[in-house]
Amino acid sequence: MIGPFTHTALPMRVVFGPGSLAALPDEVDRLGLQRVLVLCSPEQQATGEQVAAALGARAAGVLAEARMHVPVEVAHRARELAAELGADGCVAVGGGSAIGLGKAIALEHGLPVVAVPTTYAGSEMTPVWGLTEGGVKRTGRDLRVLPASVLYDPELTLTLPAQLSATSGVNAIAHAVEGLYAPDATPIVSLMAEEGARALAAALPRVVADGTDLDARGEAQYGAWLCGAVLGATTMSLHHKLCHALGGTLDLPHAPTHTVVLPHALAYNQPAAPDAVAALSRALGGVPDPARELWELAGRLGAPRSLAELGMREEEVPRIAEPAVAAPYANPRPVTREGVERLLHAAWAGELPEALRR
Ligand code: NAD
Repeated sequence: MIGPFTHTALPMRVVFGPGSLAALPDEVDRLGLQRVLVLCSPEQQATGEQVAAALGARAAGVLAEARMHVPVEVAHRARELAAELGADGCVAVGGGSAIGLGKAIALEHGLPVVAVPTTYAGSEMTPVWGLTEGGVKRTGRDLRVLPASVLYDPELTLTLPAQLSATSGVNAIAHAVEGLYAPDATPIVSLMAEEGARALAAALPRVVADGTDLDARGEAQYGAWLCGAVLGATTMSLHHKLCHALGGTLDLPHAPTHTVVLPHALAYNQPAAPDAVAALSRALGGVPDPARELWELAGRLGAPRSLAELGMREEEVPRIAEPAVAAPYANPRPVTREGVERLLHAAWAGELPEALRR
C-alpha cells in the first residue's frame, strides 16, 4: 500500500557536470551577489584561491580556516570577516566542514550560500547546521542555511584521496540507508535513496581503483547528491545518533566513523525494516543481505572496519551508548542498551556485525 505520507520538497538548484565550476560566476550573478566570501579548509586553500580567481571582482576574500564540526571560534571569525568585508554571500568550496562554515555565517547574517562540494558528505543538500563549543556539538535545522545553489563539478573531486573517497562515499550511503526506514520517508525520498546508494556502490570501487576516472567520479557525486537530499528530507535514526556521539564525544573522524558503524547499525535494524532491506538489496546488485554487503564493500574499498583503528578504546562503549539510549527517537527496532553495547563492541573490534553471525 502506498501512503499515508506527507512530502515537503526543499528548494534545490543544482548545476552538475564536469567543468560546471565555470558556471559559478553566473550562479553568483543570478543570486544578485556582488561581494562573496570564499570559504574552504586550510588543505584546500589552492582550490579556494582558484575559485576566487574565477569569480574575479565578485570575490571579496578567501578564508581558508574551515574545520570539522565548525568550532564556534572559527564561526565567529568567519562572521566578523564577512561583516568587515561587506560580503553579501558566501561560496563554500570543499567538504562538509567548508559548507558548515558557510551555514554558520548564514545562520547569523542570513547571507546566501553557494556550495561547491568536493566530498560526498551531502551537507549542501540539507538545512542542518552544526556548531561545536567546549567539545559539545549543537545542531539545528534552519532553511536560511540551505545553499541557494549547488555546483557539482566532478573534476574538483579528482584530488580526493582514495581512502577519503571511500569513507565519504559510504557516509553518503548511510544517509540513504537511514532515509529508507525514516519515520518521514516518502516514495520520492525512497527513490532518491535507492538510486543514490546504487550509484555510489557502483562508482566507489572504480573511484578507489582509479581516482582520475572522471566518469566514476561523476557517478559517485550524482549518488552523493541524491543521498544528501535524502538526509535533508528525513529524520535520521540509530546509526547517525551513534556517529554523532562518537564524533562529538571522542572526536573520531566523521566519514571513517560512519563507514565502520553503518553495517552494524543496519544489521541491527534489518529485521524490523523489510522494505528498506528490499530497496538496498536491489541497490547493491541483488544481494540477499545489504548489511553484510556493506561490511564487505568497506573491506574491498580498503576502508577502516573497526572503531579501535580510529582511536576508540573499548571501555568507552557505555559512554557512547548512553546518548543513543537516553531519549526515545524513531528507529525501526527498539533501541536497548544491551543491543547498542553489543553493536558497539563488534564495531570496535571490526567483527562481522553481531546480528549477522547467528
Ligand atoms: P571535510 O569537509 O572535513 O573534508 C575532509 C578533508 O578532505 C579536509 O582536509 C578537506 O580539505 C579535504 N578535501 C575535501 N575535498 C577534497 C578534494 N576534492 N581533494 C582533496 N582534499 C579534499 O569532511 P567531510 O566528511 O566532507 O565533512 C565532515 C563534516 O561535515 C562534519 O563536521 C560533519 O558533521 C559535517 N556534515 C554536515 C552535514 C549537514 O547536513 N549539516 C552533512 C554531512 C556532513
